[in-house]
Amino acid sequence: MKIRLWLWAGLLLSLSACRVHQPTAEEPITFNILQINDVYEISPLEGGKSGGLARVATVKRELLRENPNTIAVLAGDFLSPSFIGTLKMDDGEPIAGLQMVETLNAMGLDYATFGNHEFDLRNPDLLQKRIHQSQFRYTCCNVLRVKNGQEQPFTQLVNGIEQPIPDHLIHTFSSPGGQQVRVALVGVVLPFNKQPYVKYLPVETTFRQTVQKLKGQADIIIGLTHLTIAQDMALAEATPEVPLFIGGHDHNHMGHYVEQTVIAKADANAKTVYIHRITWYPSARATRVRSTLKVIDDQIADDPATLAVVQKWEADVFSRAEKMGYQPRNVVMYATEPLECTETIIRSTQTNYGRLATEAFRAAMPDADVYWINSGAMRLDDRLAGAVTEFDVLRTFPYGGKIVKVQLPGNFLEDALRISMTQNRGEGGYFQLLNAASEPDAQGRWLVGGQPIDKARVYTVVMPLFVAEGKEANLSMLGKFPYDAPEKVGDRQVRNDVRDIIIAYMKGL
Ligand SMILES: [Zn+2]
Repeated sequence: MKIRLWLWAGLLLSLSACRVHQPTAEEPITFNILQINDVYEISPLEGGKSGGLARVATVKRELLRENPNTIAVLAGDFLSPSFIGTLKMDDGEPIAGLQMVETLNAMGLDYATFGNHEFDLRNPDLLQKRIHQSQFRYTCCNVLRVKNGQEQPFTQLVNGIEQPIPDHLIHTFSSPGGQQVRVALVGVVLPFNKQPYVKYLPVETTFRQTVQKLKGQADIIIGLTHLTIAQDMALAEATPEVPLFIGGHDHNHMGHYVEQTVIAKADANAKTVYIHRITWYPSARATRVRSTLKVIDDQIADDPATLAVVQKWEADVFSRAEKMGYQPRNVVMYATEPLECTETIIRSTQTNYGRLATEAFRAAMPDADVYWINSGAMRLDDRLAGAVTEFDVLRTFPYGGKIVKVQLPGNFLEDALRISMTQNRGEGGYFQLLNAASEPDAQGRWLVGGQPIDKARVYTVVMPLFVAEGKEANLSMLGKFPYDAPEKVGDRQVRNDVRDIIIAYMKGL
């Protein structure tokens, strides 16, 4: 007889529900899975209060003491974006996630799947290099590399031998008495970034086929997914034999269940981790999952070996930031309400962080008619809460750049606003706006300063130089208008760089 046993932890920090039948048989096998997802920063955030991979390393060590059957997994998104990742090493190679790989190696990460941000790396050979440098293993069932017109798996050097990244990995845990359980992790990622070197296979079919194939090869099959919660739920429904989905991509912690399947996601940047304590009852072939969300904060000591790697990178990056004229640790404001810069949100709706950025533009260049910033200039893919440092501003605006005043005819202004709302919605070319409506009014009119746009009039619009040069998607027509790009801006003669402008504005709040 086949019995399934589950325990479920919901949104609360403690268990919220429990459904256990008494096991009938011999010695159960217990193991722990420590889950992180969507981690872009190796250091603690919120002025040192929250997150930090050296603290996560301590949690893993404690779990190992509790039960040697402990592994740590990452459900995608870590090589990009980050301010550190945009810098270059002394030999000219982009850092592009190396800081993350080295820290995760030190932390003792065991397994990872790809997130969409791994494919932000434009150069597939550099992505391959970062994979080879990883001491943890990758699994993903639905991604192939396109190379010279051929589709083939990405590869990873394992013990010096280059191997295709597999659709699953099996980890065998043993009980003290020598009983074994084979746990398969199946990685899967949502098709998102359309790099020419990446080919995505359909999420649900590929995952289901992989699960089918594993029957008989594994006792427990666990999804390691980087999907939207809707996709996770659909997969859970399609594969009821999978008791646990360790998910990412959504940046806020959540615990859902579909029938008896657990879907768990922790907060981005290791502000929380999920700990899954799993018991396998061999004769009943039953699984019990107990999932607990744990907050990572300054109450947890740093693991010294991981901290050493973090500090090496911090010293390197902070000294580069200082050479650029910034004081990375300097607190510039306190965000009582979190500043919203999660990618999917800031690329489709007006947010308070977008408003703050455009208000900073207005303080730097008063008297324009409209202010906008392309949301793709804001790369944080997270929220800022509590103490905001200069480093937080650098990691929001890793590319920096000037803002400029453009003289724009009304018809082009209207076109740009429409494109932002339609073709560019969901993309980096969606504008965060000040003084202009992001959508037409009930009569279909586009309003600036509360008035319909006069197509015959020329408007003054302040925007990043990148946009004014016509480099934003679908907005190349903006490149043909004259603009003014001073070296210094505002009463206090701030250096004309988005980051300096926003730091100066935050300080004055
Ligand atoms: Zn993602």
